[in-house]
Amino acid sequence: MCKKVNRREFLATSTAFLSVAAEAEILQGKALTSAAQAVEADQVAPGVYFHEGSLADNAPAVCNNGWIIFDDYVLVVDANYPAGARMMISKIRSLTDKPIRFAFDTHHHGDHAYGNQVYVDAGAVPVAHTGVIEEMRRKEPRNWNEDLKYRTDMKDTKLKAPTVLFPKELYFDDGTHRVELMHLGVAHTHGDAVAWLPKEKILFTGDVCVNGPFNFVGDGDTGKWVATLEAAKKLGATTICTATVRVPSRRCSTISRRSSKSSRIRCIQGW
Ligand SMILES: [Zn+2]
Repeated sequence: MCKKVNRREFLATSTAFLSVAAEAEILQGKALTSAAQAVEADQVAPGVYFHEGSLADNAPAVCNNGWIIFDDYVLVVDANYPAGARMMISKIRSLTDKPIRFAFDTHHHGDHAYGNQVYVDAGAVPVAHTGVIEEMRRKEPRNWNEDLKYRTDMKDTKLKAPTVLFPKELYFDDGTHRVELMHLGVAHTHGDAVAWLPKEKILFTGDVCVNGPFNFVGDGDTGKWVATLEAAKKLGATTICTATVRVPSRRCSTISRRSSKSSRIRCIQGW
């Protein structure tokens, strides 16, 4: 008999949550600087950055993040949890004073979307595929209230749904950078979307693809997921930035740059 495991249980068993003490330090601004310094962001292409999150107990940023610095603004890939959002804003501010205009939620899960209000407070707009709103209507605020029991960084912010929505695709293009947000089908959830940079051939996958032998399948459709991954593979990415990493030394961007084609394909197939 199968045991039904909800998302919080899954993440808890993956040691995804902050200790209360660590969260308190972050909220007080004590740990943010050292934490930000401890985890370096990778520049995967000019103006394109990747930050590796952590599933460790004391990690403010759980999911991986990306951001693209356009001529006039910054687009962030995934809002993360509130502490992660604050960390990313701090790191982006160390690189540029351009306004952070958009926070793209690859899907509705808390480690990707619960930092939305932090970005709104910073002047940005949360953006997502329409399926994210539909998932939130079904599951919120129940999921928020569950995570609130464990994440002290959520206490001084609130659930904020995306307010710029796209049914299939949304493009950002300033002539130098082009980012195509694309819903390729149902996968990890019913609202997944990826960020595709055709010039650099970089793909930010969200949890459609993770860099390890694990994933949460309770909100998606494993049958449709295969077809969605095939659609992603056809984009021809040479650098794949996944949304969650379990083994820090095996970040997907590094794998893409340094290892064989078979490794890249194994990654995009979700292992
Ligand atoms: Zn997820």
